[in-house]
Amino acid sequence: MRLSRYFMPVLKETPAEAQIASHRLMLRAGMIRQASAGIYSWLPLGLKVLRRLEQIVHEEQQRAGHLPMLMPTIQSADLWKESGRYEDYGKEMLRITDRHDRDMLYGPTNEELITDIFRRDVGSYKQLPLTLYHIQWKFRDEVRPRFGVMRGREFLMKDGYNFDLTKEDAMHAYNRHMVTYLRTYERMGLKAIPMRADSGPIGGENTHEFLVLADTGESEVFYDSAVTDLSLGARDVDYDDVDQCRAIMQEFTTPYARTDETHDEATFAEVPEDRRKTARGIEVGQIFYFGTKYSEPMGATVQGPDGKPVPVHMGSHGIGVSRLVGALIEANHDENGIIWPESVAPYGVSIVNLKQGNTDTDRVCEELYATLGKAGIEVLYDDREERAGTKFATADLMGAPWRITVGPRGLKDGVVELTSRRTGDAQTLDPQAAVERLK
Ligand code: ATP
Ligand code: MG
Ligand code: MG
Ligand code: MG
Repeated sequence: MRLSRYFMPVLKETPAEAQIASHRLMLRAGMIRQASAGIYSWLPLGLKVLRRLEQIVHEEQQRAGHLPMLMPTIQSADLWKESGRYEDYGKEMLRITDRHDRDMLYGPTNEELITDIFRRDVGSYKQLPLTLYHIQWKFRDEVRPRFGVMRGREFLMKDGYNFDLTKEDAMHAYNRHMVTYLRTYERMGLKAIPMRADSGPIGGENTHEFLVLADTGESEVFYDSAVTDLSLGARDVDYDDVDQCRAIMQEFTTPYARTDETHDEATFAEVPEDRRKTARGIEVGQIFYFGTKYSEPMGATVQGPDGKPVPVHMGSHGIGVSRLVGALIEANHDENGIIWPESVAPYGVSIVNLKQGNTDTDRVCEELYATLGKAGIEVLYDDREERAGTKFATADLMGAPWRITVGPRGLKDGVVELTSRRTGDAQTLDPQAAVERLK
């Protein structure tokens, strides 16, 4: 992409309404614009990051055999009356009436709708296990929408639902989801710690939230620092292997790690003192096992092996995809801007042409732009007639992991500069070598 043809409306001033770094930087870099309180338009740069995250989520869900689908944003209130949650959900639910006076709502989550789909079309235990998921916009009329996309009213969530014959099978689905989530966050370059949590309006006993430690997080968390050393890494996971998934779940949930809702001082006191940590965290996902909470009232049964109808055991699993964009920036920025991890960067490389209109710099920039593009590396080429300082500032703000600086002085010696956004380390090398380094 050539910056001269892009739509990336950079703000020079720090927007007054933004209280935290990620919100400030997303506005400044032209990633989002507020449409109304807690509701945002995603401009091209912001959308690019959102799509990268969605892609990782899709790949990791499908790796585990979970099936993608798409449910609508607008739901009928009837299903929610069946489950009993229409009244319970309260003011967070945006209620809508259509022209026929039918009660509708903008979905805050999808347990009812998916249970309805299931009960209509699945009749036998032989069709289990089944896990369906989608990535769709949700609406929750939050009391205090704030921090930009971190606590929006409209937000993008991946939500998945497992259907199993027994509690045991459903617990495997729970553990399997935990593994997929660990891998998803790791691929995004994030450390998200599973913590024992409270189930809230979804219901159920078994639940973990995934928290990214950050001073600006809204949750208070208590943990054994040993948990932060764990990582899934490149190990091979067989998602059908019940024992392996359980072992991974146990490995990650054995060290003490809880949110304030489930925190227990006495148990925490058993953690060696130097490892006892209190911090703040951003909730980027949550998994639940809630058994037959929806299948029973809604009649989602299958015929069991003995021919008798059994209500299915279910769980639901959510990832805050749009919130993750904010969380990633909270975890990866400096005073000059965003520092994207490679796996989620909207552009892998920024090319800065120090002298636009100079035959040599223009030619080398064009060649680099074409060669990197052919190698599958997405480049944002700053081809504007701007001062070098402005171009560097834009590159730093946008946060591509690498910058190639092309100037007339370097080109006299046949070299360009390759700079790491994260470390600031720069090396001078000929353009071909720079391309090789980035491949
Ligand atoms: P929170 O405690 O932050 O209100 P929640 O527990 O109500 O979140 P869940 O029902 O667990 O949310 O939804 C799954 C995920 O969706 C959350 O872990 C979070 O990452 C994301 N999410 C929830 N509410 C919002 C919101 N208002 N804006 C952006 N993301 C959200
Ligand atoms: Mg909430
Ligand atoms: Mg929560
Ligand atoms: Mg939650």
